[in-house]
This record gives sequence, structure tokens and C-alpha cells, in this order.
Amino acid sequence: MSPLPSLPRVSLAHLPTPVEPLPRLSERLGLTLLVKRDDQTGLAFGGNKTRKLELLVAEAQAQGATRLLTTGAVQSNHCRQTAAAAARLGMACTLVLAGDPEPPSGNLFLDRLLGAEVVWSSRERRDADLQAAFEQAQAAGERPYLIPYGGSSPAGAAAYAYALEELLRQGVQPDYIVFASSSGGTQAGLVAGAQLLGFEGRILGISVDEPAEVLRPRVAQLAEQVCALFGATRRISAEEVWVEDAYAKPGYGVLTKRELEAIHTFARTEGLLLDPVYTGRAAAGLLDLARRGVFPPGSTVVFWHTGGTPGLFARRYREGLLAEQAT
Ligand SMILES: *Cc1c(COP(=O)(O)O)cnc(C)c1O
Repeated sequence: MSPLPSLPRVSLAHLPTPVEPLPRLSERLGLTLLVKRDDQTGLAFGGNKTRKLELLVAEAQAQGATRLLTTGAVQSNHCRQTAAAAARLGMACTLVLAGDPEPPSGNLFLDRLLGAEVVWSSRERRDADLQAAFEQAQAAGERPYLIPYGGSSPAGAAAYAYALEELLRQGVQPDYIVFASSSGGTQAGLVAGAQLLGFEGRILGISVDEPAEVLRPRVAQLAEQVCALFGATRRISAEEVWVEDAYAKPGYGVLTKRELEAIHTFARTEGLLLDPVYTGRAAAGLLDLARRGVFPPGSTVVFWHTGGTPGLFARRYREGLLAEQAT
């Protein structure tokens, strides 16, 4: 395996993250189930955005940026990690959060501790408000750097091509890689990495919010852009991108019996904590697909833990997470 070309990158994460067996769940499911611990990337509780930020922040620094701006939901893990990266590099940070203002808990609490400035917005207005905040910073004589939703620019997504390379160097050859997919950057990076590294396992994104017909072409296009960033021309069609969207139907951040069952199962059979929004939903999909026999017996499946742990401490999920009806 020849290494991926190197792109400018600032070290923010503890890498490589561990790969651990999940023996009790493996036995229960008749699979070799492993977990890739990107909840342990280390930047203010970490998560998949830490890897993306290593490349995004390098771009920001190259442009002489003094402020990072980005957007997300009220309990955005991406926003929390961006706030931490800005603090770490001596930059200011503006977060445009879509949703109603609420008392700080979970990620929002950490955004405050990390010193980020919060602008309240809505899902409809969020990109316009982000642009306005960018222009306002420019007018004030600052050098703002705008990070798109989910950090999913081609440079941000490229981090997951490196992440796949890291996994393969750890000696793991999975038949399947399963994870939560939302803005598509993680999946695009993995798909691009698979193309460039000749990885032949299947890459399965469990959609957290978007319908597959929206997410698949987005991932394909972004994966092509990631390949281009590495100097390779690749055609990747939406048909090659595997997204399961059946679990996204209740909507973003809605905790149902399915997520609750998955969170309880992973916590109580492996001592592994999932989050209510992303990894809980992805694990619910994994458990359901395993029961339906989608993964042939004995397959090696890597569950890529993308983080989100502070969401467990968000006030809005407390009652739901303590409910026992799923067990
Ligand atoms: C952002 C996020 C995802 C989704 O990653 P994308 O690259 O946006 O698809 C998954 N899990 C967690 C915990 C996240 O914060």
C-alpha cells in the first residue's frame, strides 16, 4: 500500500486512535465486531471533526486567519471541536447555532467554556447568518476563515482518507466499515481513501438525517474532490455509495426506542458509551442489519465510533436516555 500524498495538516488529535475488539457483542451477533475509537481523538472530548480540523485549520493558518466561523445544531459536536481548535491555535471563534436558545448543557456548555461566541439562528437561515458573521468579521478588520457545515469541504473530508490508511496500517482488514453519516464528509473521505488505497471492504454510512438520494450523490461528488486534492482523477458514481436511510426517518436528534436499545446494548455488554444523535443511531442500524443477516456470519465489521459523547450530558436527552422501555 503506497502512502497517500501528504497535505498540510496541524496536529490536534491523538493518533492513531485505538481499534478494540467487542467480544461479547461479536458473539451475540456471530460477527467479528471491532470498534475504531475516534471518540478518543482527544480534542476537548474529541470525535470525527478533530481529524477534519487538522486539515481545515492548516488551511486557515496558511491564509493568516484570526477567527474560525462555522455552523451546526445546538448540540453540534463539530462546533464544540471547532471552538477547541480555535482556542488551541489562538484564534477567535464564532458558532452559528441552529435552534432555540437553551440553558448550556452538553456541547453547548463546552462551547461556552471554550470561549466561542454564539449566534443563534435556524436551520433555514443558518448559511445566510454564517455568511453575515463572516462579512461582519471582515468589516471589523479580522481575517475570518469559514468552515462549512460538518467541516465537510474537500480538505476536511480528506482527513478520513488518512483515517482509512491509519486503520489499514493497524493491521485490520474489515469486510465492512459502519458509521454515522450526516454531512457526508466522513463517508466521502473513506470512499476516496478506499479508491486510492485499493481497499475492497464495503463502506456503509447509516444516515442520521438525510434521505439516501440526497446523501449518495453528495458523498460521491465530495469523494471525487478528495481524490482530486490528492492529485488523482477518479469517477465515483452515487450508485457506488452505500447509505442506509431507514433509521433516519424519525428526524435529526430524535431519540427513539431503536437508539435507546443500541445505547443500552453497547453500554451494558461492552462498557462502551455511544451518543444519542449519531453513534446511537448508527449502532441501531448496525444491530438491525446484523439481525437481518446483511453481514454474512463471521464477517469482520468495524464500527467506526465518530464521537459525540458530550451529547449524553445534554439536558434535552436526559429523560429519554433514562427510559427503560427499550430493554
Ligand atoms: C458530525 C458527526 C458525524 C457525521 O459525520 P459527517 O462527516 O458529517 O457525515 C457522525 N458522528 C458524530 C458524533 C458527529 O459529530
